[in-house]
Amino acid sequence: MAYKINDDCISCGACADGCPTDAITEGDSKYVVDEEKCIDCGACADVCPVSAPAQA
Ligand code: SF4
Ligand code: SF4
Repeated sequence: MAYKINDDCISCGACADGCPTDAITEGDSKYVVDEEKCIDCGACADVCPVSAPAQA
């Protein structure tokens, strides 16, 4: 399991700053989660202002 960021992302960067495994990076139109690095902690969903990260 890994978190996935949906199209509601406004690229604020808060999730990337809070991710313990540096799994989140800025993509072309939104931030993206590296499924290999995600440990399913949920921190990104907690800090996101638009609830874009969710368990995939
Ligand atoms: Fe990073 Fe945790 Fe979000 Fe996975 S669930 S992308 S490890 S903050
Ligand atoms: Fe996008 Fe939410 Fe991450 Fe901000 S915290 S970059 S809106 S997924």
